[in-house]
Amino acid sequence: MAENLNLFTSTQVVIKDALNKLGYDEGMYELLKEPLRMLEVRIPIKLDDGKVKVYTGYRAQHNDAVGPTKGGVRFHPQVTEDEMKALSMWMTLKCGIVDLPYGGAKGGIICDPRQMSMGEVERLSRGYVRAISQIVGPSKDIPAPDVFTNSQIMAWMMDEYSRIDEFNSPGFITGKPIVLGGSQGRERATAQGVTICVEEAAKKRGLVMKDLRIVIQGFGNAGSFLAKFMSDTGAKVIGISDAYGALHDPNGLDIDYLLDRRDSFGTVTTLFENTITNKELLELDCDILVPAAIENQITAENAHKIRASIVVEAANGPTTSEATKILTDRGILLVPDVLASAGGVTVSYFEWVQNNQGYYWSEEEVNEKLYKKMVNAFENIYTVATTRNIDMRLAAYMVGVRKTAEAARFRGWV
Ligand code: NAD
Repeated sequence: MAENLNLFTSTQVVIKDALNKLGYDEGMYELLKEPLRMLEVRIPIKLDDGKVKVYTGYRAQHNDAVGPTKGGVRFHPQVTEDEMKALSMWMTLKCGIVDLPYGGAKGGIICDPRQMSMGEVERLSRGYVRAISQIVGPSKDIPAPDVFTNSQIMAWMMDEYSRIDEFNSPGFITGKPIVLGGSQGRERATAQGVTICVEEAAKKRGLVMKDLRIVIQGFGNAGSFLAKFMSDTGAKVIGISDAYGALHDPNGLDIDYLLDRRDSFGTVTTLFENTITNKELLELDCDILVPAAIENQITAENAHKIRASIVVEAANGPTTSEATKILTDRGILLVPDVLASAGGVTVSYFEWVQNNQGYYWSEEEVNEKLYKKMVNAFENIYTVATTRNIDMRLAAYMVGVRKTAEAARFRGWV
């Protein structure tokens, strides 16, 4: 049978498994197997040449039993309804894992911002907010940045919502510029969270950071900050990649130099001649492998060839369920995406809390609070995995889904 590469249906399988293990019946699965609300909108935008183009956008709200929903907005040509559904479910899991008072959501627009002018991106961002305004808000559903969206786009969206709401509404969205109520440490939060998971996983395997050889796929927001944090611990980053190829140096790459040369879309390998492929990168001899680019990278085809002893998923959905089984059977410790990449939503939550109280924290305070949340979550999931003899992905789904399931039960929904 062909491998299941559909993120939505493969997520449903693990959610079902997790609910079964927690002792919930079919009714709970029926409630949680897809979003409670899925809005599709059409957004007409005047282009710079005077023509009008209509873009399709989505907002998926998985479940709001725990509290308002939360999740990023992605601008990408490959956005699909199924992807939005899966990503909103993962947000519910992430919020449960780091114990935030939210359910999950996700939004997206089918577009390619790399081919658009700043003015067109601004009009599209504002049009999207007008189109979804009835179902979002600081205590309903709080958007954030995701692939190809950034703090400038969050600022336009916040401004548009504030006009509609007739109040200054910083708590409507997170990932804003600092002057508009953004949080210290938000930009690096995902990579910080991944770093904490790498360190905790290394401790569990009796490994010392400064002796480790690390390979990172992807050199964008998550991958590049991670490479910097890893090299700051004394570890050797021996491989990195982008969409065009990969760099390998068994003696360790000069990360500061590469950070200096990469462009805003995370491209750097095009400047070098002796590159290897992404496929070769994943199979390099190393201690820790961090996929931090796109989904479905470790599959049944290459899982047997992975030589790392620990895989930490910074990207969403980089390992298929078949590959998860192969890696686990081979004794490789796999730290799943819903745990490893939860640092971003955690600091987004801190931003929302600061907006609501109108009092702002230092970067040290943010980092300290993030550290506590991530270490607790890692320990909790590792303990569930070892005591129940299951992989960390299933353990993470059990921990992540429990809060929403309990809240739904208390509310009398199931
Ligand atoms: P980004 O757009 O900043 O960078 C993506 C990187 O991946 C770039 O270096 C790009 O060249 C590379 N890439 C793209 N296509 C590739 C391909 N086919 N093969 C190899 N490399 C490829 O994105 P990001 O924000 O760093 O996100 C990366 C992953 O981490 C995504 O899966 C995202 O969902 C996940 N993530 C990011 C955050 C965050 O806060 N940035 C939070 C949670 C999860």
